[in-house]
Amino acid sequence: MTAPATIRFGKFFLPGPTDVHPDVLAAMLRPMMGHRSSGMEQLLQGVAPRLAALCRTSRPVLIGTTSATGFMEMAARNGVRRRALSLVNGAFSQRFAGIVSACGKECIRLDVPLGSAIEPDMLRDALRRTPVDAVTCVHSETSTGVLQDVEGYAAVVREFDDVLLLVDAVTSMAGSPVETDRWALDFVFTGSQKALALPPGLALGVASERMVARAKTLENRGAYFDLVSFVAATAKFQPTNTPAISLLYALETQLERIDAEGGIEARWRRHDEMRQAVEAWSGSGGLRFVPRLGRRSWTVSCLKVPDGRRAKDIVGAAKAEGWTIGAGYGALKESTIRIGHMGDHDVSALEELLALITRALQ
Ligand SMILES: *Cc1c(COP(=O)(O)O)cnc(C)c1O
Repeated sequence: MTAPATIRFGKFFLPGPTDVHPDVLAAMLRPMMGHRSSGMEQLLQGVAPRLAALCRTSRPVLIGTTSATGFMEMAARNGVRRRALSLVNGAFSQRFAGIVSACGKECIRLDVPLGSAIEPDMLRDALRRTPVDAVTCVHSETSTGVLQDVEGYAAVVREFDDVLLLVDAVTSMAGSPVETDRWALDFVFTGSQKALALPPGLALGVASERMVARAKTLENRGAYFDLVSFVAATAKFQPTNTPAISLLYALETQLERIDAEGGIEARWRRHDEMRQAVEAWSGSGGLRFVPRLGRRSWTVSCLKVPDGRRAKDIVGAAKAEGWTIGAGYGALKESTIRIGHMGDHDVSALEELLALITRALQ
């Protein structure tokens, strides 16, 4: 099915929701089917191997009808026994910490200044000082553009007894390497509207065996985000409740498109090229990266605007020419801009956008 020619694509660089390709939008025009029908079972069975390849896992990939924050709550309810250490370096990692507390668990925070990363050694020191049973973190902190060393965290938590690593990979998964099994992540999740470039409304997650074992011992897991029932339903290629069926059609189509590009590694490479394009360009017009070299997200670039200029004006100048970028987030709202170069964008469109931003700053 092809999309109406009026659908525009390629100028929407918000760091979520992201631009959705017309073929993916068109997939959602398919008629409904029963969520307990054999058609639904076939759809879920059909996407399973591609989802496993996307998430680099041999474990089942759980699909929830919820924004990504729902799976943060799943992580807290099912992965934290009594007390978690939350690594906080921006707005989304702060949200994760808040959800741990909101679920009635104790939350100890390790905070670093906005724009910084928490290094694995800092995690080790904190775990030595403070016994906890889980660690929460955000891989790509969308509010500051910082990419953290989650592989390093996973190695550190295994130096301790029975500490689970719960990872928000909302703007890293499908855009930069997330090696769920090889790094041994206990729970990792994303949302549909970021690097996967689907409309918002679905979350994807993977739970390790020891995460599922932990969940089974916990009371008050709740109902909608009960990991144990998600795992049981997924094993039978069933949704837990009535899912966002149209979004599942879109997911099926998008997974085919990812295959057609050459698979997840080709998708990572394209995102790496986009990151490098911003790196090569940064400095022009006085815009400087917030994160240091080596800790920059492949999907979202957060840049400090030069003194005397306003983020709002740069966003407005792009808007006037039909392009969308993000202003800063939270405390960085006025002083930074954020370019979401994730999903189905490519380097040539990105470079067009960067040239426009340079002109706007002249
Ligand atoms: C967007 C985002 C979220 C929240 O996602 P929702 O789908 O709005 O719930 C969480 N974490 C990160 C890193 C994000 O970028």
